[in-house]
Amino acid sequence: MSFFDSLKLSRLKNSLAKTRDAFVARIGRLVFAKGTVDEEFLHQLEEILIGADVGMETAQIILASVKTNAKEQRYENPEELNALIRDSITGAFANGSAKDAGDPFAARSSSKPYVIMVVGVNGVGKTTTIGKLAFNYKAAGKNVLIGAADTFRAAANEQLEIWAQRAGVTVIQQGHGSDPAAVAFDTVKAAQARNADVVIIDTAGRLHTKINLMEELKKIKRVIKKCADEAPHEVLLVIDATTGQNAIQQAKLFDEAVGLTGLVVTKLDGTAKGGIIIAINRALKIPVRFVGVGEAIDDLQPFNSRAFVDALFEKETV
Ligand code: GDP
Ligand code: GDP
Ligand code: MG
Repeated sequence: MSFFDSLKLSRLKNSLAKTRDAFVARIGRLVFAKGTVDEEFLHQLEEILIGADVGMETAQIILASVKTNAKEQRYENPEELNALIRDSITGAFANGSAKDAGDPFAARSSSKPYVIMVVGVNGVGKTTTIGKLAFNYKAAGKNVLIGAADTFRAAANEQLEIWAQRAGVTVIQQGHGSDPAAVAFDTVKAAQARNADVVIIDTAGRLHTKINLMEELKKIKRVIKKCADEAPHEVLLVIDATTGQNAIQQAKLFDEAVGLTGLVVTKLDGTAKGGIIIAINRALKIPVRFVGVGEAIDDLQPFNSRAFVDALFEKETV
C-alpha cells in the first residue's frame, strides 16, 4: 500500500466540508464574480483567508504569490484563476518551515519499545487520539501498551480503558491522584518486560494543585528517560483546530517545556477554520503528523500538506 493510499482521502475530503464551504467555495464565488486580480479582488481574498484562520502572516504570503502569479501567468477563465490561487496556497504550505513527516506508522527507530508521550491542554482530544493511535499501531501489527498518566481527571482511567478495549490493547494504570511520572515509569518498564513495540503515554491537560502542568510533564519525560535513554521517541502535542490562532502560542509553550516532535490537529471535521493548519505549518518548525477527522476510532489521518490542499480543493492526488 502506498503512502497516499493510507491517507484515506475520501475521509479527509469529507472532514474538510465545513472549511471548504467557508474557504474554497467563497474563493470560487469571488473568482466567478470578479474574474480578474485587482486591488478589490485581493482585499476580498484576504478576508476569506483570514476568516479561514490561515493567519495574517500566511495570508500576506499567499496574496503576494497570487499577485505575482497573476502577472506572470495567463489565466483565460475562472477555472485557471482558481487553479492559480490553489497553487499559491499549496506553495505557501510547501515552503512552510515544517516539512511533512512521511509515513506515520513506519518504524522510526529500531529501539523497542517506541515511546510516544502525548501532551496538550484539557479537552483538545488527547485521550481520543491515543485510542486512535493505538488502534492504528495495533492494525499495523504492533504490540501496544498505553500508560494512564492523566491521574488528575476523575474518569480518565475509565475513558482510556474504553478506548483501549476498542483498540484491543492494554492500559497500565494506578489510582486516581497517583504520581503521573510513576505511571509512565511503570508503563515503560512493563513494555520492556513484555517486549512490547509501542508505548503511548496519556497526560493531564489542566493546571492543578500546586504543581505546574509543565513541571509535571517535564518530570514525566525525565522519568521515561530513566527507563531508556533515547525515550520518549516522540512528544506529540494535540491541538484543537477550533482553538484558532492561540493554538500557535500553545505549541510554543509546550515546545519550550518538553520539546515537541510533532503535532496532531483534531476536530477538523467540526470547524470551518481548517486553514489553521496552514498557519501552524508556517509558524512552527514542528510537523503536523496526524489530523483528527471525527470521534470514531478510525478517524485519525496521517497528515500530508499536498493531500490536504488537494482534498480542500477536491483535486485528485496522484
Ligand atoms: P483530552 O482532554 O485532551 O484527553 O480530550 P478527549 O480525548 O477527552 O476529547 C475531548 C472531546 O473531543 C471528546 O468529546 C472527543 O470525542 C472530542 N474529539 C476528539 N477528537 C475529535 C475529532 O477529531 N473530531 C471531533 N469531532 N471530536 C473529537
Ligand atoms: P524528580 O522528582 O525529578 O527528582 O524525579 P525522580 O527521579 O525522583 O522520579 C519521579 C517519580 O517517578 C518518583 O516519585 C517515582 O514515582 C517515579 N520513579 C522514578 N524512578 C522510579 C523507579 O525506579 N521505580 C518506580 N516505580 N518509580 C520511579
Ligand atoms: Mg484525556
